[in-house]
Amino acid sequence: MAKKLKACLNCKTIYEGTKCTNCGETPSSDTFRGFVEIFNPEKSEIADKMKIHSKGKFAIKIK
Ligand SMILES: [Zn+2]
Repeated sequence: MAKKLKACLNCKTIYEGTKCTNCGETPSSDTFRGFVEIFNPEKSEIADKMKIHSKGKFAIKIK
């Protein structure tokens, strides 16, 4: 069975489990499309555009 991934509505982090591993918030959606993996937030244009300041996987579009 596939693991259920969720996207945090607060910071867009993709995580498994009961709360966001990045910000600790619980509001989430399991309906998201695509994700980016940020390795180097200071140098990443995508991270800059999406206003992401930490490493990790982030949903591109959350419904
Ligand atoms: Zn979060």
